[in-house]
Amino acid sequence: MKIPIDIKTGSLTQMSPLSQDLVVGIDLGTTNSLIAVADNEGKPQIIRDYKGKTMVPSIIHFFEDNSYIVGIEAKHQMGSDPKATLYSIKRLMGKSFQDMKEIQNTFGYTFLENYEDEGLVRVNVNNKFYTPVELSSFILKALVIQAEAALDRKISRAVITVPAYFNDAQRQATRDAGKLAGLDVLRIVNEPTAASLAYGLGLDRNMEETIAVYDLGGGTFDISILRIENGIFEVLSTKGDTFLGGDDFDLAIAEKWKNTYRNELQLLPLEKWYELKWIAEEAKIHLSQNTVFTRLWNGLTLSLSKIEAEELFQPLIFKTIELSAAALRDAGIAITEISNVVMVGGSTRIPAVKNAVSQYFQAKVHDDVNPDEVVALGAAVQADILAGNRKDLLLLDVTPLSLGIETLGGLMDVIVPRNTKVPARIGRNYTTSKDGQKNLAITVYQGERDLVKHNRKLGAFILSNLPPMPAGLPKIEVVFALDADGILTVKARELRSETSMEVVIKSAYGISDEEMAMLLLDSIHNAKNDMEEKQRIEALNEGKLLIDSIQKFISLNSTLMTTEELNGLTERKKNLELLVETGNKDSIMGLIQEINEYAQPFTHRAMDSVLGAALSGKKVD
Ligand code: AMP
Repeated sequence: MKIPIDIKTGSLTQMSPLSQDLVVGIDLGTTNSLIAVADNEGKPQIIRDYKGKTMVPSIIHFFEDNSYIVGIEAKHQMGSDPKATLYSIKRLMGKSFQDMKEIQNTFGYTFLENYEDEGLVRVNVNNKFYTPVELSSFILKALVIQAEAALDRKISRAVITVPAYFNDAQRQATRDAGKLAGLDVLRIVNEPTAASLAYGLGLDRNMEETIAVYDLGGGTFDISILRIENGIFEVLSTKGDTFLGGDDFDLAIAEKWKNTYRNELQLLPLEKWYELKWIAEEAKIHLSQNTVFTRLWNGLTLSLSKIEAEELFQPLIFKTIELSAAALRDAGIAITEISNVVMVGGSTRIPAVKNAVSQYFQAKVHDDVNPDEVVALGAAVQADILAGNRKDLLLLDVTPLSLGIETLGGLMDVIVPRNTKVPARIGRNYTTSKDGQKNLAITVYQGERDLVKHNRKLGAFILSNLPPMPAGLPKIEVVFALDADGILTVKARELRSETSMEVVIKSAYGISDEEMAMLLLDSIHNAKNDMEEKQRIEALNEGKLLIDSIQKFISLNSTLMTTEELNGLTERKKNLELLVETGNKDSIMGLIQEINEYAQPFTHRAMDSVLGAALSGKKVD
């Protein structure tokens, strides 16, 4: 089932009956986000908002009553209420507070450590806290609502793009954001892969080539080297600079004018300097198509020729070429092996950038698709393939549901995420939760819910005869190997003692389409409750762990503490024991935080602090 869309307005030219096979592609960007869908000819189209705009600024503004708006209206609040206007949320996805605290001052709003969630960042607005996953889900929801209005159809399935360098945590966070927005995320696709698909690269399964995707946006630069074989994209290497983009080109122009008019400009108030940067951006864009720019501004003539601009841009462009060379080196690829270069990002419209890229790579440079839209368009192509609308195209075999094991408190720890390409082999390390633990139960589940009790149990085995070691010391590697027929082999091995055990689970796919649909729908409907329950269990686990750690700490280090400190810590431990019984997440996390702060001076004193060691690493029952 395909839907006819008016390309200019993005609206339906004719109502089509509801069908199940509509899947949208979403470019969830740092600055702007876009949503696209393939039309009835399989051609991807950006879905416009009611004003005809294609790009939705990835900005959320919160009002005092905690209601919020997303997009251009939110952006307009940036000047008047910066603390409640959130941008660049993508930079926070899957990041811990420790990762981000150094650059906190580059954000206009505040974020804190989320003690409830492995030290991840959470954002504070009007005394309410939001995780980057929740905030991204607000942006996704806004895009979906916009698309539903334009298409007059319900949207429940999507492909979402992420940078190629995103790690597992960042990808999982993006997937969770989709789920919270009520979407079934069929696949997370790398942005460079999507951009290539928009040009049709990789759609011919006989094609075998190595390509470069050069992405120069407003604030960041990324270069990816991809190998395409049999319709499979493999990222060979990525390099980039998170602080190199169009903004730097604007600054270079503004700096030049500042130098020219140093004396005159000194008298101007600070806001005027910002104006200068905006005019610099205008000049830059103008010079992409013209040879001179002139503007009268506060009695000064701001002028710049294309040649002058290119001189200013040269060092910045050179940096991108140097990074491209480094990416090729990392990939172990000679430049002559690159057959195609795909251009992404608004700044690739600069002729000097295009020339430099084409001279350096000496390959076909694809730049005729709008570089702001190319990623979303490619995501829509991938979405159309996954929707089953392009029978001519190879649809890679993927795992239909996530596979994982049960961890402490009955939580599902996903090892092979759903839609992973098969065959696949993924391993993860675990440890024990009790001193001298001899056996470790590995129970394998399939499904999308956060608690194993809601998922489907595939099998279980016990890794026995572990040599006695303190909790947290054994290194147990659990490897899931899934072959093309869906046969899953689970191997567990204690690395220090070489104890190992293996089971084969007949078919991870032995499930009907209806059952699978039910499981997926359940996971979407229960996303919020599941996440809350997961956080409660994680708080309980952390509380119990801390109680054990305090006990050990006291028995090993009591001589290092004053009586007062000893009593203080014992008292807090008792309180924590009580709280763990009553099971209130917020109070437990509050007390854990307090104890950590209270215990800091002693832990510093005790060189071989067991507290620190016992608190790190995941535990399996
Ligand atoms: P993106 O982050 O991909 O949306 O790219 C935004 C950047 O592209 C901004 O720095 C814009 O100033 C820049 N840009 C957009 N259009 C042009 C143009 N025609 N010439 C030069 N730069 C442009």
